[in-house]
Amino acid sequence: MKIVNGFHAYLWPGVTMSEMRVYGNNCNSYLVSNALPGGRHILVDPGMIVNEAGQNCLERLIGEMAKDEFRIEDIGLILNTHAHPDHYGASEEIRRLSGAQVAIGKGDDEFLKLAEGEMGKMMKQMGFEMPEINPDFYLTEGELRFNENLTAEILVTPGHSAGHISIYWPDEKVFMGGDLIFYGSTGRVDIPGGSALALKQSIERVAEMDIEYVLTGHQYGSPGIIAGKEEIEKNFDFIRKHIYPYL
Ligand SMILES: [Zn+2]
Repeated sequence: MKIVNGFHAYLWPGVTMSEMRVYGNNCNSYLVSNALPGGRHILVDPGMIVNEAGQNCLERLIGEMAKDEFRIEDIGLILNTHAHPDHYGASEEIRRLSGAQVAIGKGDDEFLKLAEGEMGKMMKQMGFEMPEINPDFYLTEGELRFNENLTAEILVTPGHSAGHISIYWPDEKVFMGGDLIFYGSTGRVDIPGGSALALKQSIERVAEMDIEYVLTGHQYGSPGIIAGKEEIEKNFDFIRKHIYPYL
């Protein structure tokens, strides 16, 4: 689904309560088309290969992309907002299919190392597999210039995870926030590396920015995309008033 010039959304279903019962967990994925040499694309948060409900998330993503005439083989770069398996899970499989490079926030490397040991075992018991990921490079605060018409600003936005990053595309004022904020809610802070204080600080920083589209990491029970300055402002106000007191 096209959002605005060059930006496409592949939202994991589950906006209504009845849909939520049908669909297991997975994240929303976003594609920036023709961003790389040779007309290759950037994919942000590929999601899982198969989720805990046995749904073929990657297969669905490939099918949805095909409707927009994008091929998985043409992905040249995968940017992950954070190191939770429902976001980065399919990274290595898509690399295998396309040769894409893979990147993730530097600060989440620690979490990935932990996940190889004790915590990995614990998470496995909880039903969270931590798939392999071998980043080609790490994302840190600053600008990524893809071509003369396309720049991304990487913001380190900890809180949901220690090394969570968000991506701002100033040309179209698109903000990809992973699990920082949702429509009417925020990312959870009870997973190792989470911090309520850091999350609030990250949200307040983003609330100052000039944004037309907030593209969120999930849409369980609410829309995944928040469009228009007024709606975005309203959402920040709602979060401050109704979510902050419980963080
Ligand atoms: Zn997460």
